Amino acid sequence: MKSKSEFDYRQLLEGIYYDILPYSGDGEQADYIPALARVNPDQFGMCLKLVDGREFSVRQADTPFSIQSISKVFALAMAMSLKGESIWKRVGKEPSGTAFNSLVQLESERGFPRNPFINAGAIVIADVLLSSLPDADSSFLSFVRSICGNTSVSYDFEVAQSERASGFLNAAIANLLKHHGRISNDIEEVLGFYFRICSVNMSCRDLARAFLAFTNVKPFEYGGFSLTSSQIKRLNAVMQTCGFYDEAGEFSYLVGLPGKSGVGGGIVADCPGRYSVAVWSPRLNGKGNSVLGMKALELLTTRTEESIF
Ligand code: GLN
Repeated sequence: MKSKSEFDYRQLLEGIYYDILPYSGDGEQADYIPALARVNPDQFGMCLKLVDGREFSVRQADTPFSIQSISKVFALAMAMSLKGESIWKRVGKEPSGTAFNSLVQLESERGFPRNPFINAGAIVIADVLLSSLPDADSSFLSFVRSICGNTSVSYDFEVAQSERASGFLNAAIANLLKHHGRISNDIEEVLGFYFRICSVNMSCRDLARAFLAFTNVKPFEYGGFSLTSSQIKRLNAVMQTCGFYDEAGEFSYLVGLPGKSGVGGGIVADCPGRYSVAVWSPRLNGKGNSVLGMKALELLTTRTEESIF
């Protein structure tokens, strides 16, 4: 086993890419958001960023894609910065064991979302941000642009519009939340903001750079939002247990890193104190997580022997 400093990460990523190729036809890209169905599913990108500043990438690591639920991490970081511990009065921090858009649990638990990464929880967080910020749209973009260091990151209004037009399940979730008094702003306003934050386009490189902040080398402040080391630790804990919906256990078992996936096919993870990594490939498994993304990250932590376990 080589020492970490002499590890050839470039070769490692190339090797991972070739080893996952046999699975490249597996899975289906998300098509419940019509605009996402138009993306070429046969794409793959990966970017690894070490805390010492070195960065390695393969294939389409610079191609922007729809980050979808990965945005929920940024939204939660902002809400934790604004509200501190009191945010947990609005949303839980337990894994749901259900699909990201499930209504069943939400109904039986009287509209209190299990965690901020299922859609119900993220819609509540969107409501918190709307209530706390004079211009939540521009604050969200400022935070994301600042944390990844790319000022061209933006909303994709076509994707947001497309999701709004077909987002009947999310509308049902928002209505159930409103019925139980869990959101205070107008339903349309909350859904509109939620769909916009999901629509943000970023590349693997942008995401790996952004998630370097969560490796918890030091407290951070971006775009006016700051987290202490203790808050970053807790954000990682929620990613670890809830970042992959009803596949959180499987991801923990196979990969062993805190992370977050999105139905655009992106997955971002971080190894506290060591590195952040982003991978993207649009074909998803039945739980809504990228097939090649899961495989690539499993190989990464197996071959580097660097995970949190
Ligand atoms: N915008 C998507 C939705 O609400 C996000 C889901 C996801 O990426 N898992 O359905």
